[in-house]
Amino acid sequence: MPIHPATRPRSAAGYDLAPLSAAERERLAAGLPAEAVRILLYQGTEPPFCGGLLHNRGRGVYACRLCGLPLFRSEAKFESGTGWPSFYAPVDESHLRRLRDTSHGMVRVEIRCTRCDGHLGHVFPDGPPPTGERHCLNSASLEFFAEGEEPPQHVATE
Ligand SMILES: [Zn+2]
Repeated sequence: MPIHPATRPRSAAGYDLAPLSAAERERLAAGLPAEAVRILLYQGTEPPFCGGLLHNRGRGVYACRLCGLPLFRSEAKFESGTGWPSFYAPVDESHLRRLRDTSHGMVRVEIRCTRCDGHLGHVFPDGPPPTGERHCLNSASLEFFAEGEEPPQHVATE
């Protein structure tokens, strides 16, 4: 069923949040390295202190690697000491979906991209002010765009 342009869900930041179909997810995943697919589509986790964006200090935005939705700004990045890129708040709370994750004998809150349902990481209540939250990300789930660059938006086509 086509989504009428006027009724497509949009975030306060102005981004299209209409969910991608399984076929669109697969088409986008086909262009990514196996490690990114394992994490984004199969809830994988990369080893700590290995991710390519852990020490990135550039100013800009971190977008979903699968669909391009902006997720975190560099201003919200902090050094958590965990070995994974960490942020205290997303660009827009509606860009993330929170799910209860009871895998590996732990109760955690998983975060996924609202638009493509890609797995991003987890959020913990031990972050710095102003939110007190620590969004713990896999570098492989993200793509960094320097200030002035806009991530290409892969939106639902049906
Ligand atoms: Zn996405």
